Amino acid sequence: MKLLILSGAVQNLDHGITFMYMKRRLTVFVSLVSCILLTRCHSSMEIARSPSPAVKTEIRPTNVILMIGDGMGLTQITAGMYSNGNHLELERFKSIGFQKSHASNKLVTDSAASATAFACGKKTYNGAVGVGTDSLPIKTLLESAKEHGWATGLVASSSIVHATPACFIAHNKSRKNYEEIAEAFPGSGIDYFVGGGLKFFQNRTKDDRDLCQELRNEGYVIEDYFHQDLNNIKPDPTKPYGFLTANEDPLPVESGRDYLLPATFTGLQHLTARSSKGFFYMVEGSQIDWGGHANNSSYIISELLEFDQIIGKVLDYTETHPSTLVIVTGDHETGGYSILESSSMNNLNTAFTTIGHTADLIPVFAFGPGAEAFQGIYENTAIYDKIMSLMGW
Ligand code: MG
Ligand code: MG
Ligand code: ZN
Repeated sequence: MKLLILSGAVQNLDHGITFMYMKRRLTVFVSLVSCILLTRCHSSMEIARSPSPAVKTEIRPTNVILMIGDGMGLTQITAGMYSNGNHLELERFKSIGFQKSHASNKLVTDSAASATAFACGKKTYNGAVGVGTDSLPIKTLLESAKEHGWATGLVASSSIVHATPACFIAHNKSRKNYEEIAEAFPGSGIDYFVGGGLKFFQNRTKDDRDLCQELRNEGYVIEDYFHQDLNNIKPDPTKPYGFLTANEDPLPVESGRDYLLPATFTGLQHLTARSSKGFFYMVEGSQIDWGGHANNSSYIISELLEFDQIIGKVLDYTETHPSTLVIVTGDHETGGYSILESSSMNNLNTAFTTIGHTADLIPVFAFGPGAEAFQGIYENTAIYDKIMSLMGW
């Protein structure tokens, strides 16, 4: 028995990721024989260095990147793939599951209830930002990460106070309270954020606060689209950093928005430099949803393909940082989007059943240590539960 485990583990040492998966399966066996292994294999096998409870820690990711395609259902993914020569970066994932997106009060969720499910692990009502059905705050993944000494980051192609990113940093009874949501940034300790919504930080309607100045007073470097080109930014890793990409919502890709890729990549470098223990990073492809609401297939596909390209870059990052867990999912489907029989490769004819959201099951793609925990069918809140349990938090 002992020899079998040793040879299995050593064989897989050449394949870091496979080894991680193998280790999970091996945990049971390892705990049975760990006493024997402990006495004999201290220097030769990492897996045997600790008693069984600590063996589990070896599959703990040290970085978690959660990528949310807003309104990204299976048809959005399929349309992107068949409009892109039958290829997506998403095909690099091997651990795939489905989540049930329904909200506490409606079968069809909005972005706030679903992002609160990911960020806080609780079903809540549509419109709720980081609060439960009683409108009381629930600690978010980002806040837990901060408490554990991790660096944290948020990047979106919407306003940074829009529902999806908001649910990771703010607590508000309504997603529409943008100025109140912006007030969550000072004092949050977030290390990196990029998105639109400058007007909710400066020249506000509800008060005279200048949240950019308040952040600078906390040691942040805060820049914006009006003064800087995001393609040229070089954040100082000794300081937390924020960039506001638009006064309200940023443009669609089709109208020239091109920052999501460089912003995501710069954030990876910044968070890597700023994290002594690890980082939690949420990246949102916000406007796939807006293409769905507009019943505009080329809007959906251009946003989806941009997001997919970023997914590819994030997966490339894990090649040099293999302790990074990457999870990609959508918050719900938008448009009741379908691909019609008259379609051909790279030439789709599509239709919509609604200008709103639908209740479809949403795919979840996971890569890296702990990825296989994301196989199966589960509630959207389980994404939070799985991350917290992998971290031992
Ligand atoms: Mg949404
Ligand atoms: Mg969103
Ligand atoms: Zn929507």
